[in-house]
Amino acid sequence: METVNVISISGGKDSTALWLLAREEETENMKVIFSDVGHEHPETYKYIEYLQENLGEITIIKPDFSDRIMKKREVVQTKWRKDCVPENIIDQALEVLKPTGIPFLDLCLWKGRFPSTMARFCTQELKVIPVYEQIYEPLFQQGKHVVSWQGIRAQESRKRASMPEREMTPEGYEVYRPLIDWDVYDVFKMHDKHGIKPNPLYTQGMGRVGCMPCINSRKDELFEIARRFPEEIERVSDWERIVGLASKRGSATFFTSDERGHGIKEVVEWSKTSRGGKNYDLEKIIALDDVPTCSSQYGLCE
Ligand code: SF4
Repeated sequence: METVNVISISGGKDSTALWLLAREEETENMKVIFSDVGHEHPETYKYIEYLQENLGEITIIKPDFSDRIMKKREVVQTKWRKDCVPENIIDQALEVLKPTGIPFLDLCLWKGRFPSTMARFCTQELKVIPVYEQIYEPLFQQGKHVVSWQGIRAQESRKRASMPEREMTPEGYEVYRPLIDWDVYDVFKMHDKHGIKPNPLYTQGMGRVGCMPCINSRKDELFEIARRFPEEIERVSDWERIVGLASKRGSATFFTSDERGHGIKEVVEWSKTSRGGKNYDLEKIIALDDVPTCSSQYGLCE
């Protein structure tokens, strides 16, 4: 049976190193894919183009929620009315319930909410299912054996440390994690060895790249994103307004509404506070006006 090696690229350091390793080992039948969720930083999209130019073809996977949004319009006009949802809420939902072509936003419009740490449907809906349906299933139908290469490292978390290098999934494809024993410096060394620059976001204070921001962003990550890329906060704030209009409750927030604030702009204000979240952290307030051109958690500026 013919094997196809599927390598998922995120624009981050680990998956790039993974691809470089696969090339170094002269892996045959490689299929490199990128799931475009429409919520990455523009630098990441540029970096994907850079990788295509320097390493080879990448198949772009873009989930489409148009049908589900159109079905939701029907639900709004029938079930919401039956449930006595006020007419102004129904009207405003119908006004915004139109596919935008931005997968992350369309997913949230369909759901009427943003994903959260408790309801983390984003990875599943934006990456896992589309990759399975658009890549793996057609390969299975052609009788191919699929090996899914994953750039996971044991150092990243206890959960990842417990993952084996190889395993078969119940869905019938094999998972291969050749970087499991690598440290972060091995990853950057791999870039150097092959003359491939890492995603520039790693020299702009970012520890990780991907959704900008991710629903799991820590306080310091959000602070760094907000001071360097305020336009990303503005974009998400606008998404909160749009998704709020598509929601029965009439509001939606990117981060769970709690003592940190209601809405991303309030949570950004909280990110400027010291431990306890009550008072502004003076060092952070000074840092807002003193953004270094190059800063890296991985020593890439030295
Ligand atoms: S990176 Fe974060 S926000 Fe994006 S799909 Fe994954 S969990 Fe969701």
